Amino acid sequence: MFRRILLWVSENHYLNNKLPKMGFVKRARSKFMPGETLEEALQAASELEKRDTSTVFTLLGESVEDLDESRGVVDHYKTVLREVRNRNLTSEISLKLTQIGVDLGSGIASDNLREILELAQRLNLFVWIDIEGSYYTDTTIDIYKGVAGKYSNVGICLQAYLYRTTDDIQGMLALNPAIRLVKGAYLESEEIAFPQKKDVDRNYLKLADELLVARRRNEVRAVFATHDSKIIDQIMSTIVLHEDLNLGDLEVHMLYGISKHVQESLLQSGVKVAVLIAYGSSWFPWYMRRLAERPANLWFLLSRMLVG
Ligand SMILES: Cc1cc2nc3c(=O)[nH]c(=O)nc-3n(C[C@H](O)[C@H](O)[C@H](O)COP(=O)(O)OP(=O)(O)OC[C@H]3O[C@@H](n4cnc5c(N)ncnc54)[C@H](O)[C@@H]3O)c2cc1C
Repeated sequence: MFRRILLWVSENHYLNNKLPKMGFVKRARSKFMPGETLEEALQAASELEKRDTSTVFTLLGESVEDLDESRGVVDHYKTVLREVRNRNLTSEISLKLTQIGVDLGSGIASDNLREILELAQRLNLFVWIDIEGSYYTDTTIDIYKGVAGKYSNVGICLQAYLYRTTDDIQGMLALNPAIRLVKGAYLESEEIAFPQKKDVDRNYLKLADELLVARRRNEVRAVFATHDSKIIDQIMSTIVLHEDLNLGDLEVHMLYGISKHVQESLLQSGVKVAVLIAYGSSWFPWYMRRLAERPANLWFLLSRMLVG
């Protein structure tokens, strides 16, 4: 119920205009973002690298309305790639197809993605494609399959809450894909997605097992993007049971500001950890999805209101 209300707020146009301007909402934003600017994100990444933690940059913002706007996003990500290379960071980037014009036509998004991938390939850097609401799943997977054959520096995020994801994984293994597995952050109907958290968690583990089998055959780069320490522990137990993989082969991605203690203990076990740093002025829908993930976050927001 609580999750559904916050996810509804994240999609409400009126509240999206009003709430981000309120001081206490802005103050609370700092829990999940080092700042709105790329420079702040880059500085946070340099600090994290000192602690052996890699980073993934994502510019917040969804659905662009015209070609100029989508070009602006492409140019921005090209600047990010150059900055990452100039500063010798190990960072990757993660983008949404709606940011680079998929609502204007899948060909536009695909061409824009290729332009970013060309530069990333030249700079030896990696690009992730986020997965958005289910309206975009087919198009996102088609576009990914279209580029994965040509570029080895691109990966896709897939959601464990969707019933279809096991078939989607099997359908892309021939491409030697990179897959970042998440639970899923959008409001979906029970016709297509597990409504109960326990079923999403169980499916996450099942998909993780499938990815580890493929990883053992070197058929996939598997990244587990979750803060769920029980799930991470189970994945680690599976890995140590098999001699052909070790904890250094495990990649876990988390969001900036969340579960830092888990990140520390993973690093100590030799697991590769990366933190996704979100920045940009269009942060409100993304921020609401973070609140929806954990009731305690709402209390944090309200406490910012009280501190004035
Ligand atoms: C790197 C990364 C990339 C992502 N990309 C996408 C994407 O492209 N598409 C998509 O649909 N979703 C994406 N997500 C979001 C994802 O789908 C989940 O909504 C989110 O990760 C919460 O699920 P969880 O796996 O952490 O498990 P949960 O069961 O939600 O959380 C497990 C525990 O982690 C901690 N935790 C989780 N979330 C929070 C939070 N917001 N604040 C504080 N503590 C928290 C709590 O201790 C919680 O008990 C991404 C997540 C990550 C980490």
